Amino acid sequence: MSESVFNPLELKGCSAKGFKTCQKDGRKYCVLLQEVLVTEVPVCPKCNKKMYKHGTRKISVVAPPINALPCVFEITFPRFRCSECGEMHIPKIEGIDERRRATDAALLDIICKGLRNTFEDVTHDYLITGVTARNIFEDFMKENKAKLRFKTPVFLGIDEIKIKNLGEITVITDLEHRTLFDMLPKRDAKTLEEYFKNLPDKESVLWVCSDMYRPFEKPIGSALTNARWAIDHFHLVAYANLAVDYVRKIIQGSMTKKERIKTKKGLAYTLKTRLRDLDAEDAEKIRIIRTKPKLAPMAVAFDLKEDFFNIYDENLDSKANAKAAFAAWEASIPVDDIYCKFRELAKTVHNFYDQIFNFWDCPITISNGFTECTNRLIRENNCRGRGYSFEILRGRSLYRKANLEQALAGEQIIGPSISSNEPVFRFENNDYFEFGFEEAVLVSDEGLSEWRKEFDLSDADISNQ
Ligand SMILES: [Zn+2]
Repeated sequence: MSESVFNPLELKGCSAKGFKTCQKDGRKYCVLLQEVLVTEVPVCPKCNKKMYKHGTRKISVVAPPINALPCVFEITFPRFRCSECGEMHIPKIEGIDERRRATDAALLDIICKGLRNTFEDVTHDYLITGVTARNIFEDFMKENKAKLRFKTPVFLGIDEIKIKNLGEITVITDLEHRTLFDMLPKRDAKTLEEYFKNLPDKESVLWVCSDMYRPFEKPIGSALTNARWAIDHFHLVAYANLAVDYVRKIIQGSMTKKERIKTKKGLAYTLKTRLRDLDAEDAEKIRIIRTKPKLAPMAVAFDLKEDFFNIYDENLDSKANAKAAFAAWEASIPVDDIYCKFRELAKTVHNFYDQIFNFWDCPITISNGFTECTNRLIRENNCRGRGYSFEILRGRSLYRKANLEQALAGEQIIGPSISSNEPVFRFENNDYFEFGFEEAVLVSDEGLSEWRKEFDLSDADISNQ
């Protein structure tokens, strides 16, 4: 973009010829008349002969508002013609986008407003429709994708998030700085491989942290040759909670109404609470469950889950001890069918053994840095897409006015921070708190959703109890 972007009233190479206010559909707006200055009569490129003036051409382009009124530049261009060959010439001026009928300054302003307001809001300042504003925003994001890049992370996090109307998207984070890095419209191996293959400075990625999603394996190995893959324990312990749920559903399903233990928060919640976080009432509940043979498997499940969490909690400083703790935990799973989901969890650990225990070698995971990001992302997976295209959601989530201008200027910057009290994904109106922000909804991982289906666990079962 040219310098004139930052001086919206002046069009380089033009002289102001006047000013008028007009009305359109009952709305007042101002028109600035501009005439393109020509200091030298052009020479025909074919005949090398001076051209002659041959009428004018007029175009209207939207410009940033003046005194809160929408503004339009009416620009008059002289036309020139070659008397020899008939060649026409119309001078070009900097700072306008003829195709979009807007000044560069207006386009940048529309895009920046689109980052934080609704596209309808943008029409208060510009004589354009909300649809046009949206198209301008979307085109800009697509066209400038390569330019608007953040600094490639050393610690890169990958999550898959389900967004209504958009399906599964991939969210890439900078775990060191706890910022958003990028978003991809899909999450299949091909998309990931293509993306990582073309990632600038990809050799600076040393760690990739994610869940247990196999399609990550190939792109990480082939494109990010310096990176090691570690699996975030958050994704893994989520399975332990689902295994507890499985046991509880079977036991509760076999109980009469009278037998059921009534509590304020519900048994599901209690069973998924960590031992150290149980209040007196919950602790008493667990104690009761232990003494009743019919209910006791739920207490066993509670203990198995607790022990599984402790593989991490009690062995953070020793990978060898953690491996031993896992082996002991696996051996402690009773043979009864009801605990099959714990055995499946053990199998999952074996399937991703190296990546799971890489966690102990990754300096940043110890600080719990990225589970926070992951948690925040996952909490939002219920957000409505509001009819957004992927590019619009991506643009609104990754950019703010300041970082957009810095990125356009070619500065090496990091992405927007993932703060604890603001939504990560920015929809129009950001009406995101409607969706309940207290309890994390579990992982969006394929395996988990299959489990959910299999055991008929609704999202509400997992998140609210
Ligand atoms: Zn000519």
